[in-house]
Amino acid sequence: MAKIQMNTPLVEMDGDEMTRILWKLIKDELLNPFIDLKTEYYDLGLEHRNDTDDQVTVDAAEATKKYGVAVKCATITPNKARMDEYDLKKMYKSPNGTIRAILDGTVFRAPIVVNGIEPCVRNWKKPITIARHAYGDVYKNTEMNIEKPGDAYLVFEGTDGETKKELIHHFDNPGVIQGMHNIEESIASFARCCFNYALDTKQDLWFGGKDTISKIYDGKFKEIFATIYEEEFKEKFQEAGITYFYSLIDDIVARVMKAEGGFIWACKNYDGDVMSDMVSSAFGSLAMMTSVLVSPHGYYEYEAAHGTVQRHYYRHLEGKETSTNSVATIFAWTGALRKRGEMDGIQELQDFADKLDKATLSTIESGKMTKDLALITSLKDVTVLNSKEFILAIRENLEKLL
Ligand code: NAP
Ligand code: MG
Repeated sequence: MAKIQMNTPLVEMDGDEMTRILWKLIKDELLNPFIDLKTEYYDLGLEHRNDTDDQVTVDAAEATKKYGVAVKCATITPNKARMDEYDLKKMYKSPNGTIRAILDGTVFRAPIVVNGIEPCVRNWKKPITIARHAYGDVYKNTEMNIEKPGDAYLVFEGTDGETKKELIHHFDNPGVIQGMHNIEESIASFARCCFNYALDTKQDLWFGGKDTISKIYDGKFKEIFATIYEEEFKEKFQEAGITYFYSLIDDIVARVMKAEGGFIWACKNYDGDVMSDMVSSAFGSLAMMTSVLVSPHGYYEYEAAHGTVQRHYYRHLEGKETSTNSVATIFAWTGALRKRGEMDGIQELQDFADKLDKATLSTIESGKMTKDLALITSLKDVTVLNSKEFILAIRENLEKLL
């Protein structure tokens, strides 16, 4: 069979530890035999980041702007222990942070739903995708301990000399205060990313704030979303048959619990932090979460939501067998290949991505899975496979579909 051809390259960002091992297996067994894979390769493994003073991460992000689509392997974010382990010149920032700062954008995280791994919430049948606004609020706050009686104010000094001042609280006794901010441009960019991604994936978009209490701050989020929706997206949403739904955050949470899924939930920064952990654990496994960074300029970067699975890697180095789940990394590749196919008008590539997804899910549904899933599955007669056997089992199913 002739290999599928590509026009434009994908930006390929290799990574660290066990996921780097899976990365190679996925390419060798599931991609290269079927696709004439065109990638521009960047090695974001920690050693090469150290050799290049992290320039490789910046170059990979810049290449993503050039080609539009990237796929990334999990990478180590250095801490003190890693400084020693890899003899690093300095404590480099998280590659994801560096890439996000260059591309600007919103991370959408979605669980991979498969028969046999049932969410804790019985009525959740389809994925719930969480979009977290990754700027400002409590993550860029200023806090103060108040030790004695006095008045705390919120003060703004304009560069034109005008000032605004509001009493926060008159303290008779010790307490605490906190100041935080956001920027209209960032909120608007978040809103556009969410509306675009909803159109892209043909899913409804939900958003909730606490604008009854926080009339100005959360009110601003509500207003910006509403304005952008009315002016730029309403008609497109109607054509696509999807809806934008705003409600109070408590109402949204209550509805999420009763819903069957299949929508995007746009979250303010803190809500996204908290709710993404709740949603991912309720859907079963961190190893089954995908993640895509969507920039307001239309660049896409796909990856697994989990890390480099260090504990398994050390077993691997000792020559012991591992049973590491490659599903989220496979879905990162299929997400990127599908998007590449869409952008370049290559139907074959899109179909291949669909088939690889299908082969992966049907492997699990047939009872063949890695250990993490075997521990939580409702299926009987399960065969636990090691990291490589699982990928080979997927290949077998894939070949039947091609
Ligand atoms: P992790 O790599 O996500 O792994 C934590 C634990 O979750 C594993 O020990 C394993 O549990 C389970 N797990 C995660 N993914 C799995 C998979 N695919 N298959 C089977 N089990 C899986 O998190 P971490 O150990 O906290 O972090 C390791 C490194 O990853 C760190 O250096 C961190 O900086 C980096 N990290 C990178 C990213 C990223 O690049 N996006 C994200 C998070 C963390 P058991 O050991 O119980 O089997
Ligand atoms: Mg969190």
